[in-house]
Amino acid sequence: MVARLRNNVKKAVKLEDAAGHNTRRLIERAVFRELCGMLDGGEPFRPKKNRPNVVMFVGLQGNGKTTTCTKFAYHYKRKGWKSALVCADTYRAGAFDQLRQNATKAGIPFFGSYTDSDPVNIAVEGVERFKQAGHDMILVDTSGRHKQEEALFEEMRALHEAVQPDDTVFVLDGSVGQAAFDQAAAFRKAVGVGSVIVTKLDGHAKGGGALSAVAATQSPVTFLGTGEHIDEFEAFDCKGFVSRLLGLGDWKGFMTKIEEVLPKDDDELIEKLQEGKFSMRLLYEQYANIQKMGPVGQVMSMIPGFNSDFLGKGAEKEGQLKIQRFMTIMDSMTQAELDTTDIKVLLEPSRLTRLTRGSGRHPQEVALLVEEYKRMAQVWGRMKNLKLPKGGGNMSALNRNMNLQQMSKMLPPQVLNQMGGMGALQGLLKQMENG
Ligand code: GDP
Ligand code: MG
Repeated sequence: MVARLRNNVKKAVKLEDAAGHNTRRLIERAVFRELCGMLDGGEPFRPKKNRPNVVMFVGLQGNGKTTTCTKFAYHYKRKGWKSALVCADTYRAGAFDQLRQNATKAGIPFFGSYTDSDPVNIAVEGVERFKQAGHDMILVDTSGRHKQEEALFEEMRALHEAVQPDDTVFVLDGSVGQAAFDQAAAFRKAVGVGSVIVTKLDGHAKGGGALSAVAATQSPVTFLGTGEHIDEFEAFDCKGFVSRLLGLGDWKGFMTKIEEVLPKDDDELIEKLQEGKFSMRLLYEQYANIQKMGPVGQVMSMIPGFNSDFLGKGAEKEGQLKIQRFMTIMDSMTQAELDTTDIKVLLEPSRLTRLTRGSGRHPQEVALLVEEYKRMAQVWGRMKNLKLPKGGGNMSALNRNMNLQQMSKMLPPQVLNQMGGMGALQGLLKQMENG
């Protein structure tokens, strides 16, 4: 594959003709295009609504099948599909319990058995039941083995034959490195593979295995797993993926993520901000948006030059907990308190006592929240005279209007430090402007 990449890049870039051009850029672009080409595995299976779509998940043990099929089910459920999960893993002890717990958490119907040890029986019965019940996204989780062995492939063939899935998803652990090609090829040979999902891309792995898996299966990557939680799951976007693979960042992904969580119609918000009325309620909304955005590290990895663990898992958890505690305190506030912009009111001792009691949090935390509110109100106060776009103008347009000073005030100091200070931020904004 490397040889092919090299040859194609050589063919695409004529350095003799490149006089006067930026050769580095030319080569970079050719490599980029070639990698995208290598990741093109053809059209993925497109499920159709209101008829049963049966999808079977295969892969070695620990690759993330059970986790991924729950994420998959949840992804479609949120889009209005009737998802259901069938546990056809009778090989690993506790497999059904794991799926049951995942499914329960996500509110997705599931089927499995503690007593039947025949995966084919279970799969057939489960799929049939959910078909009868009118489900249109029926997912079959299968067992794995620690290595590619014949017993596993025989089981997969039998299951495939019995269930006749519309699509077979090969789940690949993104950190396996060069083993990816052989694994993928073996599954393709046994059951045929229709699409690939690469997991554990939140770790150090950049996901080069995706290239091998596509080459070995001739099938497209559809989703990526970026964490253990149910929403740490992204639709695969080739350009964004290659950008991140090359360390170029993924602005499109970053902006999509930001826009996804921001209110679409926020003229009211902008008006309030322009009047300088930054209330506790707006802070609450901001926190809720941050929480919807998912792990900060995941979002950060889309910024050029950063990787997902730059914040450190500890700092990230701590930050999220802090936001949760603040929101708990805000939940104990009255409507009037949420809407006031007068800090003196918030600091009245009787009020502080009531909030402390109501939320069960330490008085110091309540004081911290008021401090944080004060800081944010100052930041937004400075934006008062900024010309903000209205009408369809959402927060990302607003972000683009933010200057360096304002942006640096928004970021918690320790984050700014870890980003490399003001200089780094300046570079970042430049990149943002250049799109
Ligand atoms: P299976 O044996 O193929 O069903 O794999 P599991 O779904 O049980 O996953 C094995 C382990 O990998 C579990 O601890 C999961 O939480 C973890 N895991 C799965 N997907 C991801 C991912 O995208 N990121 C991370 N960090 N862990 C994952
Ligand atoms: Mg499993």
